[in-house]
Amino acid sequence: MPDLQTAPALETDKRASRKISLPEILIVEAWCKGCAICAEYCPKHVFIMKDNLPVIVDLQACNRCMLCEMRCPDFALTVR
Ligand code: SF4
Ligand code: SF4
Repeated sequence: MPDLQTAPALETDKRASRKISLPEILIVEAWCKGCAICAEYCPKHVFIMKDNLPVIVDLQACNRCMLCEMRCPDFALTVR
């Protein structure tokens, strides 16, 4: 089973005291070749590259445009 990076699906919006849903971004590290296409195409700067892997640094900024998933040449990244 390859290693997966996952992010929480739900987070509390403290100002509104309600639950908001966040996307879940899965990265299969064993399939990722570190090309950085996902980070370069993401319009919201959700990722940085570290040790040749994309790392999620701002999940709340994600607008679910799916560009990262569509552009990944190795099907290593899924947004849901
Ligand atoms: S779905 Fe769009 S905004 Fe979200 S991480 Fe991927 S490219 Fe960035
Ligand atoms: S586009 Fe795919 S293969 Fe390239 S760094 Fe991102 S997850 Fe890895």
